[in-house]
Amino acid sequence: MQREDLEKTLVLIKPDALNNSLTGYILSQLSEFHTGLHFAATKIVFVNRILAEEHYAEHVGKFFYPSLLEYITGCLHYPNEPWKRRVIAIIYQGADAIKKIRGIVGPTNPHDARDQKPGSIRSLGSVIPVLDASGKVIGDRSDNLIHASANPEDAEREIKLWFMPTDIPPLMRNYPVETINEYYYFKNNTIYAEYEPGSICVCAPGDLLWKSDLEAMRLLVQGLQAHCSVNAVVAKYLINKEDNVK
Ligand code: GDP
Repeated sequence: MQREDLEKTLVLIKPDALNNSLTGYILSQLSEFHTGLHFAATKIVFVNRILAEEHYAEHVGKFFYPSLLEYITGCLHYPNEPWKRRVIAIIYQGADAIKKIRGIVGPTNPHDARDQKPGSIRSLGSVIPVLDASGKVIGDRSDNLIHASANPEDAEREIKLWFMPTDIPPLMRNYPVETINEYYYFKNNTIYAEYEPGSICVCAPGDLLWKSDLEAMRLLVQGLQAHCSVNAVVAKYLINKEDNVK
């Protein structure tokens, strides 16, 4: 098999799984022995607001969206221990990686997982009522332990959202990369080519970027439309770097 054929997928071990000490169990279920897949990259991530919003952008406006952000940022499971808020992000690689992992993960809703796929990882999850400010139940929340990319387009978007190229060993990268010659700075949802007081340097000459990020930054810095938002481009460069970015 050619390495270009090796499909990649993003897995997130979510805060409820960490809180319930299920990490070892999940890694074992997804191990090369069971799936034939191997790790291409992994990191422990403090999920800031920008990353959470970008990861779940497709759910903006849904009733469960605010609780989804609270969930993935770890605020729900570690309300008084912010230093424990984290997610384990893993890229798995191998033939049919997306389908194999989704199969072991199971349906989104843990009740459905128990009914339709007992033994799947999400069958160990919980469904929790969501309350409004007055305490009235307005729906429920699926604490389903794990995220796994749903299709190749989502996998590429999500991997490029959570990982920089240099987080992945060179022979395991299969999206184009480019070394940059310019600086980019970030502040208040805006990218700058020169330092602005209070801005964060997201990349500098010699850094290796996803080619698609570089193309987006070159447009965004001129105030032009790109294929993705400023926050989607910069989120990975802020991971574990700037805890003022909520
Ligand atoms: P996934 O790919 O199976 O994780 O499902 P989605 O990407 O559609 O949803 C992302 C997350 O949002 C899920 O893992 C759930 O935690 C939550 N979610 C999705 N759909 C619903 C829903 O209809 N109700 C509730 N309460 N939560 C949902």
